[in-house]
Amino acid sequence: MNELLGLKGLNVVWLSKTDLTNLNAGEGESNYIDIKKYKKDGIEYPYVSGQAMRFYLKEAMRRSLEEKEYMCIPDDKGETCGEINKCLMCDLFGFMKPSKGKGAVTRVSPVKVSPAIGLLPFDENANVDFLTRRHRVSEGAKMEGDIVNIEIGTNIYKSGISIDMRRVGGEEEVKEEKRTISIKNAVESPEKIIRVKKTLDALRYLADYSKQARLLTDFSPDLIAVSVQKKYSHRLQKLFDLNNGRELNIQRLNEILSDVSEYSDTILFGMVSGIVKNEAEVKKAVEAKGIQVKTPSEVINEAKNLVK
Ligand SMILES: [Zn+2]
Repeated sequence: MNELLGLKGLNVVWLSKTDLTNLNAGEGESNYIDIKKYKKDGIEYPYVSGQAMRFYLKEAMRRSLEEKEYMCIPDDKGETCGEINKCLMCDLFGFMKPSKGKGAVTRVSPVKVSPAIGLLPFDENANVDFLTRRHRVSEGAKMEGDIVNIEIGTNIYKSGISIDMRRVGGEEEVKEEKRTISIKNAVESPEKIIRVKKTLDALRYLADYSKQARLLTDFSPDLIAVSVQKKYSHRLQKLFDLNNGRELNIQRLNEILSDVSEYSDTILFGMVSGIVKNEAEVKKAVEAKGIQVKTPSEVINEAKNLVK
């Protein structure tokens, strides 16, 4: 099949309910570990940065590498290998690499990752806890500890990824004389498919968030929608709108599903119970669109089978 006529976009958007936790990357040296927050209409909500989410996704993929597969580890300057034919990380997540005489070679990430946005107000769902951080002051000295205050909270986070299918395993090639851009494939189609499937699979096994030694939590999808698209668009990311009473906006759900289904081969929807209050209504609305409601893991497995 001519690839230009095939799949162009794959979008995943999901909600994940967390127990008491703090998901920002890195503890730093500060004695107060806060939760990153954004403000909407004067009210604070927590979020986890897109950078941290990318890191969690990469680490989930790294755990699933087969023996012959490869993901480089960034060097001390944060530079990666840049070999997209063999390195899954450089291919899927892009890179910027200084190159002699050319300035820098940049690859835009074909896998786009959103920040995880807390949808419930921070104040009503958070607390400050403290922990003791131990460190050795000098060689041979006894361990000393200091008290660190840490903000922790529960919330329902919305996250998403969008995969630019044509660019996975391929490089943009600018043809100066014709003034056109085309995609030059660095890997064969079966390898591209494996890489997309691995990205989807990683969503089920997100686990390497910060501070899990003390704040073990699950941050994988509880409600999820996947669209397998003939056009590249990020529209599905607007699917979930939650009010403070934990009810999903059904009208929004209908509008976005109608919109995205115009250019999608398939839309999949999964949900576990006890996350949103109006789950019966959600199920009814989704099924009215001819979409069967499954569990998130069934949805991810089915999406993997649709990538061909
Ligand atoms: Zn690499």
